[in-house]
Amino acid sequence: MKREQKKARNIVLMILFTVLIGLFYQNYACLPIPRKTPEMSTHGYEVWANSSYRSFVPGSERFCVAKDWQSLGESSIERGGVRFPEGSTGIVIKSEDFITMPVSLEKSDFDLSVTYLKAMPEAERNAYVEIIKKAFNDVGSLYPGSTHLPQKHTVLISVGLAGDGNQFETSVYPNPSQYVSVFAKNRNHPRAEELFIHGATHAYNRFHPEFKTYQDNQSPLPAGDFEEMEATWTELTFRSSKDALGTRIDDLYRTYTAVMDNRTDETILYPLSDKEIFEGIKNKSVIVSAQATEGEAEFGHYILAPLVMLAAEGMLDESDVTIDSILMEVHRTNENFFSVLSRHVDQREMSLILEFIEGRAVIPEDLVRKGEARLAI
Ligand SMILES: [Zn+2]
Repeated sequence: MKREQKKARNIVLMILFTVLIGLFYQNYACLPIPRKTPEMSTHGYEVWANSSYRSFVPGSERFCVAKDWQSLGESSIERGGVRFPEGSTGIVIKSEDFITMPVSLEKSDFDLSVTYLKAMPEAERNAYVEIIKKAFNDVGSLYPGSTHLPQKHTVLISVGLAGDGNQFETSVYPNPSQYVSVFAKNRNHPRAEELFIHGATHAYNRFHPEFKTYQDNQSPLPAGDFEEMEATWTELTFRSSKDALGTRIDDLYRTYTAVMDNRTDETILYPLSDKEIFEGIKNKSVIVSAQATEGEAEFGHYILAPLVMLAAEGMLDESDVTIDSILMEVHRTNENFFSVLSRHVDQREMSLILEFIEGRAVIPEDLVRKGEARLAI
């Protein structure tokens, strides 16, 4: 063979080799699960690891899962590994340390299972499952247009992994997604049930592929702000203890008036009790822009939004209609929430609601109390 021919053959072989390696990586290769230092998120550690659990930020990569381990909340399992949905946290667990059990719901929107530590006592497990079932059934009752293609969904009870789930530092909270929700707080924590109801609401209003249409019709609220308003509302309306409901509404209203009066107060709800976060609140609206400060997002979504809904419930005082029945109609017809509400309150009340939303008027306490009385029945 001539020297030139040999050279040409070598080049062809090299190209072929590179293409084959590329194809192999594309189809079969996966990255090892990264080991990172723990990272705190909204309700506990998002990134965390021990000998039977690991969570990490996956991006769009494909990850290898070791033989005795399994992934949780993956969007696909391919020959080469698992991928996780965009924005979610990757989770892998050691199979022998966890149990996954199916949970049947009254409605068929979710094909639900619960994954928990094998070490959790049965009575304790049952108590968590009851809260989970009730939350999914209650939130599901607001969605009358049932699909017949249940969405596969797992609830990870992370209590017991990093401790008792009573503080941020003893809770593990990977980001939820279409496929997974997380019960991160100890069930005896005063916010445990409410936070789980909030998460179950997002399983419906943010992640369930069949219920995504109405969120874009909620002007003046962008979809994300409306989702938060619904989720903070269901926290109030579906919580099982009505006594604690009063305490929660007291806390919300006390925090609200302190912010509206620009009066920093140590007795208001965390994290607004932090002076620096409190002072970052300039815009007092349920509409939270991408540039909003931590305080503005916290106030708009978690303090103001549920009080606006309570005020609207208070305005419906004389009527058979409730905010829950209005939400059912919105979910059934994809209509605008405020259009439906405007059929049941007068024009003056309707413009007040819009002023409350944008912080242009202060919600009177008696309206909040009227709303509260309707929930307490
Ligand atoms: Zn939320």
